[in-house]
Amino acid sequence: MKITPLQDWIAARMGTHGHRLSRADVERRQLLGLRETVRRASAESRFYSAHLGQLSEADIHSLDDLHRFPFTTARDLRRNPYSFLCVSQGNISRVVTLGTSGTSGEPKRVFFTSEDLESTIDFFRQGMSILAKRGDRVLILLPGERPGSVGDLLREALRRIGAQGIVHDPVNDVPGTLKRMAREHIGVLVGAPAQVLSLARQSDGKSAPRSILLSTDHVPAAIVEALRHIWNCEVFTHYGMTEMGYGGGVECGAHRGYHMREADLCFEIVHPETGRPEPDGVMGEVVFTTLTRVGMPLIRYRTGDLGRFLPDACPCGTVLKTMDRIEGRIDGRVPIAGGSVLTIAELDEALFPMDDLLDFEASISRGGNRDLLRIELSLRDAGKRGARDRALDALRTVPAIRSAELRGDLLVTLALRAPALPATGSTAKRTLVDNRNPERVS
Ligand SMILES: [Zn+2]
Repeated sequence: MKITPLQDWIAARMGTHGHRLSRADVERRQLLGLRETVRRASAESRFYSAHLGQLSEADIHSLDDLHRFPFTTARDLRRNPYSFLCVSQGNISRVVTLGTSGTSGEPKRVFFTSEDLESTIDFFRQGMSILAKRGDRVLILLPGERPGSVGDLLREALRRIGAQGIVHDPVNDVPGTLKRMAREHIGVLVGAPAQVLSLARQSDGKSAPRSILLSTDHVPAAIVEALRHIWNCEVFTHYGMTEMGYGGGVECGAHRGYHMREADLCFEIVHPETGRPEPDGVMGEVVFTTLTRVGMPLIRYRTGDLGRFLPDACPCGTVLKTMDRIEGRIDGRVPIAGGSVLTIAELDEALFPMDDLLDFEASISRGGNRDLLRIELSLRDAGKRGARDRALDALRTVPAIRSAELRGDLLVTLALRAPALPATGSTAKRTLVDNRNPERVS
């Protein structure tokens, strides 16, 4: 098995030419990066000069000293994104405004300089070299119209490996996209998991790409399995978010989880409630600190994602750490009556193995003294016999659903839709929508 190309890239970035990169090299460079980030942030950013108080780069003697620093949250970013800037606004090349969520009202803004965008392109170039090669035509089902958008940066990264990135934007016309894949001889596909699955299941096995990169949302194992089966292709997954500079980590050929962009980002896993660091192997909240970000460094930024580092080495032989596939969002854990918790990830693993399922939507509301779980399934052929029973059987493989139903705490209602729900044209994260009044939940 080939070692992840991220390792050589990180070695070159860290200047360790001449000898094989060791874990100690990575951590030594990360320590220097952390000190520099803290120094610049406390000197140049209004937010951090107040937020860090008396703490300074002199307090960082080892990576563990990072634990003494306060977290940065999405709420901090919403409150006053401009106070994070370490350069003048004239030096910002790209501003990403992330939609409002929850009750906060204010959008998040993330700022990048041209150096920051260049660093992302460089990471994408290495990441894509795992699955794309010179001459490949790569269809990118992500937003890419604006300069500096994720699709635009990917296209530039692919150009640098001699491949052609074709920005298609998220899918809103499945037959049209499938025709384009055939017409343009697409070898590699990049997109959101549910969108790519919906394409595959309506393709009759035709227009198969050689490899796929799934990104932008948690990746259900059931979707990876289905894509391998339908298109007989290799499926890779990527983990990132805008605040990371889009890219965070990407799988190698071992397909065990992500190797991280450790030259630019230092990752931690912390207990979601206490904030205490968790050892490798233990699930917790993913937290990262930027090491090279110029415009808007972030120190101990809480992602709200649930993840863990795998405790053992990757079979590819890298010294880079391996992060298990992300399990979803911490605020995506929805309590149901009787004390169980349900997540969209559990519903995904139960339902996506249904071979005619294209997508589904799920919500919880309150009816009488029970919770109502409503699932709207988009099926290729909703008239097919037994679809309803198969879906109910699949849902009852989820322990939280089965036990809550048996106790009389939960009623499951299904709606079958055909033809498909119109493709959303969006890569927004899929969620289990909670419509209940929180005060009324037992
Ligand atoms: Zn590996």
